[in-house]
Amino acid sequence: MARLTTIGFDADDTLWQNEEFYRLTEAQFAALLADHASEETISSELMKINLRNLEFYGFGIKSFTLSMIETALTITGGNVPTRVISEILAAGRELMTHPVEPLPHAVSALEAVRDNYRIVLVTKGDLLDQERKLAQSGLGDYFDGVEIVSAKTVETYHAVFARHGDGPEHGMMVGNSLKSDVVPAIEAGAWGVFVPHDLTWAAEHADAPSGHPRFHEIPHLGDLPPLLDRLQ
Ligand SMILES: [Mg+2]
Repeated sequence: MARLTTIGFDADDTLWQNEEFYRLTEAQFAALLADHASEETISSELMKINLRNLEFYGFGIKSFTLSMIETALTITGGNVPTRVISEILAAGRELMTHPVEPLPHAVSALEAVRDNYRIVLVTKGDLLDQERKLAQSGLGDYFDGVEIVSAKTVETYHAVFARHGDGPEHGMMVGNSLKSDVVPAIEAGAWGVFVPHDLTWAAEHADAPSGHPRFHEIPHLGDLPPLLDRLQ
């Protein structure tokens, strides 16, 4: 097997908490429209609009905010009070100020791999917001490279591991999304390590490539160093 030289890490809900803040904002949003529809209806409409808008706006808080406004317009039949629009905008901005703290085992895992591998952060979302979170997390110095991308596809991993490493066959991607972090990385020829998180956005689900020789699942990042020892 090709030697592993480069490890890519997902950021949101792999190195730090993210989805829980979106869920809180979504609950706040549903409360604003409680007179018009049930929380379930609002949630499923928001999900639908959010997914449709990804191809126009990409991932991140700005996209999510625009989707909340569009959902409010749909749910109210165009009669959304301007006060509600203001509150949606405020809720979106608030999402950009939530504190960023590394998840348990994140620091020790990065500490354990930094000397023997090149490590790259691979994340999607709003450029400014992802930069802010990285700075606030205090993890910036661990990375040899940072890639803030619009989507995580097979081509993304080809490009990232070519730019920062020795190609995908010498690379590994570690993250909480089967759809974005694991499956396309394996398809590109890299190892894919799934680290599940309790809260993962429904749009990030995919079938685990169970049985694939380059697929591994670990309960938390603390199990990454022993996995690497076994692989090498
Ligand atoms: Mg993630």
